[in-house]
Amino acid sequence: MILPEPIQNLINAFSRLPGVGPKTASRLTFHLLRAPDDLSKDLAQALDALKTSTAYCQTCYNITAAGRVECEVCASSERDASLLCVVEEPLDVLALERTSGFQGRYHVLHGVLSPIEGIGPDDLKIKELLMRLRGGAVREVILATNPSMEGDATAMYLQQQMLPLGVRVTRLARGLPVGGDLEYADPNTLLRALSGRQEMG
Ligand SMILES: [Zn+2]
Repeated sequence: MILPEPIQNLINAFSRLPGVGPKTASRLTFHLLRAPDDLSKDLAQALDALKTSTAYCQTCYNITAAGRVECEVCASSERDASLLCVVEEPLDVLALERTSGFQGRYHVLHGVLSPIEGIGPDDLKIKELLMRLRGGAVREVILATNPSMEGDATAMYLQQQMLPLGVRVTRLARGLPVGGDLEYADPNTLLRALSGRQEMG
């Protein structure tokens, strides 16, 4: 069956998303075709705003509103600047914020080290992290990368890099599902992992 170009284009675009196969991409496309006009319009507007109305915090690299230099956590004087939690993705910040049990600040790496995928230290916000630590305000770094092979390897690498800086380095306690993502952990489990964090090295 030959599809009109606009339909095929949307199917192709959906197919490029993670976890969306050709079948789901077609289903979503035809759903939108049948749905009331405002659904496509709202979706198009939201997609457009996703990139134009957001920016990265220039301190922790979490996502913030466009036009802001710092996110709300970094800008808040009520957050403990001596405690820094290092996470893989912005969604992990959200998961930790949901626990309401962390009063420090964050640093978002935007990924993990993965030799197989060709992701090295320069592809993550590691230089930026070390620069932050050299500022001297941080006393403890909690490595909250996922409990996966890559997450553990990244934590180990970071610990080595931070040794000369004399900062206390801890790792989230075990208890999070191994191989699981922080973002899917329930707040109580996450809170336990946070309060049970252990010295690295
Ligand atoms: Zn920030």
